[in-house]
Amino acid sequence: MASGLTARQLTGQDESHLVTLADGQRLQADAAVAFEALRADARAAGFELAIASAYRSYARQLAIWNGKVAGERPVHDDAGDPVRLAGLSDARKLDAILRFSAIPGTSRHHWGTDLDVYDAGAVPADYRLQLSPVEVAPGGVFDALHCWLDEVIAAGCGHGFFRPYDRDRGGVAPERWHLSFAPLSAACAADCRDEVYRAAWDADPAQPALLLRRAIEADWPALRRRYIEVPERGPASS
Ligand SMILES: [Zn+2]
Repeated sequence: MASGLTARQLTGQDESHLVTLADGQRLQADAAVAFEALRADARAAGFELAIASAYRSYARQLAIWNGKVAGERPVHDDAGDPVRLAGLSDARKLDAILRFSAIPGTSRHHWGTDLDVYDAGAVPADYRLQLSPVEVAPGGVFDALHCWLDEVIAAGCGHGFFRPYDRDRGGVAPERWHLSFAPLSAACAADCRDEVYRAAWDADPAQPALLLRRAIEADWPALRRRYIEVPERGPASS
């Protein structure tokens, strides 16, 4: 495949393509090198660029997804208010969950190219990180970091990182904290064909089944367009 990754690596079921950073987070090696360069630039500009979440496994995403479908984890609307899924049609449940959470196997966090960041220097050590819109909005605790990131990315000095969820395209909510390493992620996106996802959902019989799979399959092409595909940047070659 163009990414050089296997279907299992693309869907968070094999972690052999990753290196571990000093803080325990994992990325592909080239993305890790680029991130350390970006972190050094951030430090020089007065920010302590830190990772909230980089690589995430299929099992972890499955626990989040199934927990939300089953009502064991909260689902919020755009205003941050809780959504009661009980009583909604399966299609409406999907829309509510997909606004903020990816179907297991389809998360960009599986690739080792994408990560959620914050400014550890802007908050006390015991700060409870939420990665919420208010934190990254004008006046929010991480707004200054993100304004700096906007500038360096726009100037072509972002070491290959871009924002796949920079604005609301009617699918996934804007996530200013989410960065993607384009030189690797474009190829990962290109390699994620439908059969790659289906193989992940069919995989290990020992792991829990993907909830709402029937509804996902029923509306698959539209869901894929709306919630998974984003405008990719960078070279799609390996
Ligand atoms: Zn993210």
